[in-house]
Amino acid sequence: MKDQLEKKKVKRIKINLDKCVGCRACEIACSAFHATPKYSSINPARSRIRMVIDELNDEYVPIRARDYTKAECDGRHVYTINEKEYSECSFCGAVCPARNLFKEPDSGLPLKCDMCVDDPPLKEPLCVQVCKVEALTYEEYEEEVKEEVKLGEMEIGLQSLVDKHGLQKLVDTVARMSQKG
Ligand code: SF4
Ligand code: SF4
Repeated sequence: MKDQLEKKKVKRIKINLDKCVGCRACEIACSAFHATPKYSSINPARSRIRMVIDELNDEYVPIRARDYTKAECDGRHVYTINEKEYSECSFCGAVCPARNLFKEPDSGLPLKCDMCVDDPPLKEPLCVQVCKVEALTYEEYEEEVKEEVKLGEMEIGLQSLVDKHGLQKLVDTVARMSQKG
């Protein structure tokens, strides 16, 4: 059977490591944008973009939260760029068990960059807007991709709870909660 193709708008944030100064304005803006109510609090631990900083080596790497994964990788590359050595983890946005990054501090649920989806839409994602040195820049383009079934935020959250506690415990907890409600 022939693959079904669809046009997809691709949103991309380009990162220029040479320009990033590690000011963390992107973390602050992202966490405020995703606070409930919006802009009511600032907590970088809730940001979907985090800085990996190694001041001694003058390394500043912003990474955005991507997909949740229940397994960590079993080997890591080291990249040498302009004489500086970077761990592969410095460029990886996976929400994985190897580090305490992109996990909602209260619930432990995975966080994922949503490109600041909003109504009305922002002209650019907020982290890009606040990055005054243009280490982050935004672009959009269209490409043809295969149709795929995507998991929503709730399914990803439920999947992570099932992985952590087991399906039966989750079912029992939901049943208990619904009896109380
Ligand atoms: S706002 Fe820009 S310069 Fe500041 S930490 Fe984020 S990416 Fe780096
Ligand atoms: S695009 Fe929006 S959600 Fe994604 S990291 Fe930037 S501010 Fe956060």
